[in-house]
Amino acid sequence: MAIPALSDYQRLVVKVGSSLLVDAAGRLNREWLASLAQDVSALQQEGHEVLIVSSGAIAIGSAVLGISKARARLPDLQAAAAAGQVQLVHAYQEVLGRHGIAAAQILLTPEDTENRRRFLNARGTLARLMERAVIPIINENDTVATEEIRYGDNDRLAARVAQLVMADALVLLSDVDGFYTADPGKEPGAQHIPVVARITTEMESMAGETRSDIGSGGMATKVQAARIATHAGCSTIIASGAIEHPLNALQTGARCTVFTAEGTPAAARKQWLAGVLEVRGTMVVDDGAMRALQGGNSLLPVGVVRVAGAFNRGDVVAISRPDGKELGRGLAEYSASEASQICGCRSEQIEDKLGYRGRSVMVHRDELVLFDNDR
Ligand code: GLU
Repeated sequence: MAIPALSDYQRLVVKVGSSLLVDAAGRLNREWLASLAQDVSALQQEGHEVLIVSSGAIAIGSAVLGISKARARLPDLQAAAAAGQVQLVHAYQEVLGRHGIAAAQILLTPEDTENRRRFLNARGTLARLMERAVIPIINENDTVATEEIRYGDNDRLAARVAQLVMADALVLLSDVDGFYTADPGKEPGAQHIPVVARITTEMESMAGETRSDIGSGGMATKVQAARIATHAGCSTIIASGAIEHPLNALQTGARCTVFTAEGTPAAARKQWLAGVLEVRGTMVVDDGAMRALQGGNSLLPVGVVRVAGAFNRGDVVAISRPDGKELGRGLAEYSASEASQICGCRSEQIEDKLGYRGRSVMVHRDELVLFDNDR
């Protein structure tokens, strides 16, 4: 199977592991980071969108606060993350700024990607940043994430982010250059696998529990991340970041493992929406809106005749014709009470009706599936 190239992908989430960025004494490797920023700038200039999920806050902050990771308790690590995060983001801001690129900090918890209201909020913010070619620097919000509800490692966080923004590639940069049949550090006979079309349980057990001393992820969390992302239509690349210009190296054929996606991100999102069982309400639309939806547009308040049901922002609603025929379904951008106040309004009238600026769409086109005509 041909190995896809980085330039085949439009929207890339790049995950940077702690061990690449920070040495054992908690010092940031600024040269390496500068080389990454240069690669990101080159990708942007070629028309790609890049988001970065970066670890490193705890490693940097532990040095700042004099915390030894071996003896640290969760609140110590959280404090370290808080102190390290400012330095981490500042470093990104500085290296990207040299290329005239702005950086933005995004801190997420698992709830933010699982609760659909928060999911829509995060997605909306990230979409605006990407429209403006700002690079989001994303990390776990370690201050509020407690033991039970932590991602724990940024590999899975990065996969959830890829799913959230409908990225078509997730690049996991770490100290290994791909997936091997066994831990190459321990078994010299371990074989590198360049392309994985389907993740098997056997592969998951091969991934084992390898860990590096600085970060918290290992090969097992990378394979789990690949499972989440590929299922969401996003190919996942495990590649070495132990060299300068790691993304450029990938462009020019550096060794890596590509887990190829099942379908596209849009198809995966639509399949998920079509399969959701709890539909909480209905938006009844007019002919103009129906044609707009069929043309691939979002549902605007002006095209909604009335709403029914008790739904919140982020709930799934049916989209129907006045005669009751269901056209499709999507995630409501507004609750039922807000939606009923603004239906029939043009977007610029929303603020008058609701008392705040709000959003311009009732259902975003990415969060919408239309059924075939015969349904
Ligand atoms: N949020 C943690 C940090 O910034 C990283 C978690 C991980 O090791 O991936 O240090």
